[in-house]
Amino acid sequence: MIITKKRDFKELRENIKNYKSFFLIGCSECATLCGTGGEPELKAMKETLEAEGKIVTGGIVAKTGCQVLGTKTELKKNKDEVDKAECILTMSCGAGAQAAVEIFEDKPVFSANDSMFLGNMTRYRMFDERCSLCGNCILDKTGGICPVTACPKGILNGPCGGCKDGHCEVSPDIKCAWVRIYERMKKLDKLQEFCDVTLEAKDWSASQKPRALTAREEKKK
Ligand code: SF4
Ligand code: SF4
Repeated sequence: MIITKKRDFKELRENIKNYKSFFLIGCSECATLCGTGGEPELKAMKETLEAEGKIVTGGIVAKTGCQVLGTKTELKKNKDEVDKAECILTMSCGAGAQAAVEIFEDKPVFSANDSMFLGNMTRYRMFDERCSLCGNCILDKTGGICPVTACPKGILNGPCGGCKDGHCEVSPDIKCAWVRIYERMKKLDKLQEFCDVTLEAKDWSASQKPRALTAREEKKK
């Protein structure tokens, strides 16, 4: 999921100072789980904006805010409320904000959130980054733990010389990614594989931006 946090309201206030009326768009998926774009957050944002003398004409928690066509369809029932708003305030990730930009060609769109990373929810509203979306996965060779992400240096054949008592020299509060990989592979009885495999330098062309993918299969004629 995409991990978001609320932007500093002072910054947002500066962004929107010249506008009076807003339509809010949250997202029922990641932003709801992050507490940045579900029903309670939309309600709180409405109250905050109204306390600032602004008007909230309406709002929806979109099923999947980054899904352009789906969100556009959902918004049809809110046409009047949307028409009355000078601008759109998205409470989702940056992809959701840009879905709104695509949908509303003639209205300014502001994002109420900062998008942080692709993350795992480990406990209620606690998130860890475990994948950097490199486009060329090597988990099959590292016991399922990603050194590209879990090692602050992204070292592919570690640990580095700074590893101390199993902890990372860059972030001593975390365990060294390569110690974790070693321990995991030992547990899986794959230490020989750990010793035999030397990972080659990654082909970063797979993560060159902007990326696009067509995942649908063409119908056979
Ligand atoms: S190797 Fe790449 S795709 Fe696989 S988990 Fe790590 S960053 Fe993600
Ligand atoms: S100590 Fe381990 S996790 Fe930290 S930078 Fe070195 S190899 Fe990476």
